[in-house]
Amino acid sequence: MSETVRAVLAIGGNLGKRRKTIRSGLKALAATKGISGVICSPLVESAAVTPDGVDETKPAYLNGVVQIETTLKPKELLTEIRRIETEHGRIRLERWGSRTLDIDIITYGDTIKSGKELTVPHPRAFERAFVLVPWSMLDPQAVLPGYGSVAALADELKDQVWLAK
Ligand code: ADP
Ligand code: MG
Repeated sequence: MSETVRAVLAIGGNLGKRRKTIRSGLKALAATKGISGVICSPLVESAAVTPDGVDETKPAYLNGVVQIETTLKPKELLTEIRRIETEHGRIRLERWGSRTLDIDIITYGDTIKSGKELTVPHPRAFERAFVLVPWSMLDPQAVLPGYGSVAALADELKDQVWLAK
C-alpha cells in the first residue's frame, strides 16, 4: 500500500456553466482511483487576470479550493487532473486564457519540489486571492509551506474576490 497524503487543489473556470462544471469536476475527482475525502470550500468570484493584468472584458472566474486524501504520487495526480480538465472541455490556447475548468495542485503534503512539469507548492498560490481566501475559509489553520499562515496571506488580498451567490 502506498501512503496516503493530504493534498490541496484549486479548481475554477470562467466559461460555460461554471458552478455545474466545478461540481462535475469534484465528482470526477471523487471517482478517481487513489483519491478520497474530497471536500470543497465555499466558491468565490474574481475578475479575469491575464499576463497584462486584470481584464474586465473577460468573463469573471468562479473558484474554490479542494482538500483530498490521495495515494497517487504528485505526477500521477497531475495526470488525473489533466484528464479531468480535458473531459470538461478544456482547450489550452494561451497562457492564463479563459477556460471551462482549471485544476491546480496547490500543496502535496508538505512536499517542496520544483520541476519542469510540476512545482509544489504552486508557485503563484501565495499571491492569488482566489486560492487563499477560499482555502482559509475551508481550513483557517492552513499553512502554505514556505510562506506561512494562509489566513494571514488571504487577509491582505481579500478585496480582490467576492463570495459567489
Ligand atoms: P495555469 O494553471 O497557470 O493557468 P495551466 O493550467 O495551463 O496554466 O498549466 C500549465 C502547466 O503547469 C501544466 O500542464 C503543468 O505541467 C504545470 N504545472 C506546474 N506546477 C503545477 C501545479 N502545482 N499544478 C498544476 N499544474 C502545474
Ligand atoms: Mg492549471
